[in-house]
Amino acid sequence: MRRRALRTIITGTCCFLTLLSLSGLSAAAPSSVVFCRYGPKTGMTTTFQLRTPTRNGSSDTFPDVNSKWDQPRDGGSNPHQGIDLDAPYGTDVFAVWKGWVVAAAGGQVDLYLDLDQDAIKDDSAWATYMHLSTIYVSVDSYIDVTARIGKSGGSPAHLHFGIRKSTGLWAPDERYYPQGWSTGRDLDFVCAVSQSGNVIRATAYAKDDGATVYLQPGDVDLYHRDSTTEPWQEADMTLVAGSQTRWEFNLGTIYTPGSSVRYMIIAERWDVIDPYKWGIFPAKYEQPPAPDPNESWAYDYLTVAIQ
Ligand SMILES: [Zn+2]
Repeated sequence: MRRRALRTIITGTCCFLTLLSLSGLSAAAPSSVVFCRYGPKTGMTTTFQLRTPTRNGSSDTFPDVNSKWDQPRDGGSNPHQGIDLDAPYGTDVFAVWKGWVVAAAGGQVDLYLDLDQDAIKDDSAWATYMHLSTIYVSVDSYIDVTARIGKSGGSPAHLHFGIRKSTGLWAPDERYYPQGWSTGRDLDFVCAVSQSGNVIRATAYAKDDGATVYLQPGDVDLYHRDSTTEPWQEADMTLVAGSQTRWEFNLGTIYTPGSSVRYMIIAERWDVIDPYKWGIFPAKYEQPPAPDPNESWAYDYLTVAIQ
C-alpha cells in the first residue's frame, strides 16, 4: 500500500480553511429538516434534489463537468471545493433552491438555502457561485428557485458551483443531483458510496477539462476501525469486475458478525502535487481539533454493522 499516515493526509487537506469563512452567517439552530445522508454524526437521512444552476428556458441543463468536487488538481489550492461547469462567458446562472442571498460581490454569490421552505434561515446549507461576470441579486434579499442570479465569467469562462453546510463542512454535490450528470457521479471525486451486506462500494474518478481520469489499483483505500480506541486500519479497495470507476471491499473478511465498524474512503491522485492529492469521503474540511483517535475528529465516517 503506497500510503502516507492518515494524519498526514488530514493535515494536508485543512490549510485552505481560512478561505472559507463568510460573514453574515450565524450558527444554525437545529432544523427539523434533514437534507442528505451525510454521516452518522449528523443523522441526515434524506437526499434533496436541487435545481441545476443552468437552464434552457425553464428546464434544468447539465453542462459538462470540467472538474469535480473534492477532486485533487494540479497547481491549485485544492482539493476542489465545488464543481467547475462548462459555461461560456455570459451564461445565465440560476438559484438551485429558494433562499437568502448572504454574499453578492466580487463575482461571488452565496445563497443560504431554505430547504424546508419555511422562510426561516435555519437550514444550515448554502450554495456558492463563483467567477460571475454579472450579478443580479443583492445581499439580504430572499429569492425564489427561478431567480436568475447572474452571468458566468472567469478566464477561461466557467461556473464554479458548490454546496456548503454552515457547520463548516462542504457537502458533496452528488447527494443533491440523483439525476443528470451521470447520476451525480460526474460531480464528486469520491461518491455514490453504498453498502451491501459487509461489502462497501464507492465510485471514484477525476475530470480534467471534461476528460475522465481513472484511478489505479492501490489508489482507493478503505480506512476502518471497530472502536473509538483502535487506530484506523487501511485496506486497498479493488475494482468491481468490469468497471473502471467502481471500487469495493468486504469488511466481513476482517471483522466478525456483530461488530460495529466505522469507515471512511480516501482516494488519491498520484499525478497531482502533494499535499493536495486526496479526496476523502465523507469530507469534512476543518482544522483537526484533536489527534487521531478522538471522537471530535476533523474527519467524518460511516458505520456498518457486520453480518
Ligand atoms: Zn472551481
